Amino acid sequence: MNYANIKDCDIANGPGVRVTLFVSGCTHHCKGCFNREAWDFGYGEPFTRDTIDRILEMLKPSYVKGLTLLGGEPFEPQNQGPIVELLRQIKAIYPQKSIWAFSGYLFDRDILSGKLGDWEITKEYLSYLDVLVDGPFVEAKKDLMLRFRGSSNQRLINVPESLAAGKVVEWEDWQGNGRGMK
Ligand code: SF4
Repeated sequence: MNYANIKDCDIANGPGVRVTLFVSGCTHHCKGCFNREAWDFGYGEPFTRDTIDRILEMLKPSYVKGLTLLGGEPFEPQNQGPIVELLRQIKAIYPQKSIWAFSGYLFDRDILSGKLGDWEITKEYLSYLDVLVDGPFVEAKKDLMLRFRGSSNQRLINVPESLAAGKVVEWEDWQGNGRGMK
């Protein structure tokens, strides 16, 4: 897997100060994509042991609330293995830090169907996630007032509760379901 960028102080892609990893490679090719160069799986730098160590170090300060995975597409089959290796280590060292991921795939239709590569890897991946923002960016549904989302078709999904309930449970924060800004 390659990655395009790592931000160590991101406040736009999940609650609190976060480390954000932008992985390379995306097959959705949404119209109006904000990150077209990352469609190419070969874009950016190779994701290595050193990259994992760097992210673990960035997560160390107590004010960093967690990691966000962006892309590109963090659920492309070829990206899942290296990401699971990263998440396994993060959860072992920092079990209290939250993990968010943004995907153009739909949680129920695509990810839970097991069609995105090895289901055992996908299952382990999901076990580490707190929130998944799912669905492709749809330019016609773009809404700048939405919190943590680009278009209104995208959902903020509480992954542990959804897996336990066997249906999509939307993530809610103190500001009410992540709908609306601030
Ligand atoms: S899923 Fe994200 S990175 Fe991929 S094309 Fe759509 S907006 Fe761009």
